[in-house]
Amino acid sequence: MSRTDVTARTAVAAAPAQRAVLTTEVWLRIPSAAPGVLRVRPLPFEATASYGQRLADTYQLTLSQLLDGVGITLHGHGTLPAAELHLNHNAARRLAALARFPLPHLTRALPHLALPGDAHGTAAAAHWKRLGAEQQPVRACTLCTRHRSHDATDTAWAHPAPQRLVCPRDQQAAPDPRLTSTVRTWAVPELVAAHHAHQRLLRHPRALTAWTTARAITTRWYDHQQHLTHRWHTRLARLCAANPRLTTTGSASPALVTRDLVIYPETVTLARALAALPNRPHRDTGKALTLIAHRLGLPRLASNANDPLRVFLTHTRH
Ligand SMILES: [Zn+2]
Repeated sequence: MSRTDVTARTAVAAAPAQRAVLTTEVWLRIPSAAPGVLRVRPLPFEATASYGQRLADTYQLTLSQLLDGVGITLHGHGTLPAAELHLNHNAARRLAALARFPLPHLTRALPHLALPGDAHGTAAAAHWKRLGAEQQPVRACTLCTRHRSHDATDTAWAHPAPQRLVCPRDQQAAPDPRLTSTVRTWAVPELVAAHHAHQRLLRHPRALTAWTTARAITTRWYDHQQHLTHRWHTRLARLCAANPRLTTTGSASPALVTRDLVIYPETVTLARALAALPNRPHRDTGKALTLIAHRLGLPRLASNANDPLRVFLTHTRH
């Protein structure tokens, strides 16, 4: 078959009533490495399987039909978010051609797309690989997804990035892969403010270490109900009221699956405060604790020698 087939798809897309006359067999013969008629933009950090599925949805195909149609052999079985699709170099090249994206652009957007050191001469192949719980992608914002899918789907999965926890425009977030739908965050407006503050933090040279430390500390405060318990309980209750499915589905508790979201504003505030602190030889732990309590909107941080923030400020150099 020639590129005429793909051109014919354009005519069909323009005349939905004629779709029924096209058999799947036609689409199984999309020419290998030929540009598709539709350009489907990837979402930042999108899972490869998610992008492939959205591309297939756009052409009204299953994922295996799409891959087969461009000459990619699919091995194994899997579903998102528990598994990810790994493509070898030639498969990635064919997918990029179909998607009408230069391969380097697609590789930047899809962090798991091409494996380093992969042989270029091998036949195009895709493998499903199971992911550990900590590697699994989370649901992407449904409105951003629809916008980038020619309205074909609102479902996409992206590998989590802390600075992209909240979609500030559409006020959605997915703090845990166990959530099968996104959490609407409009009832907690401080999450959008925290998102913007987080982007400012990223400009700081110590942003990454400050974020990692802050998240470890606020997570421990949350799990051990320290300092901010009342504020976090209130925020969790608001999120549950706006998202009834949080309390009615799934085996994990809402307190657990929304933890990163509930503690997000204080994690950002603490990370920014830590990034701005002087290095240790000039640091006064008592003064730093008072300053951080003030930033967090607390009269003081309860005195406890084992408090993770106090331990960090006293014993760790950064
Ligand atoms: Zn969005």
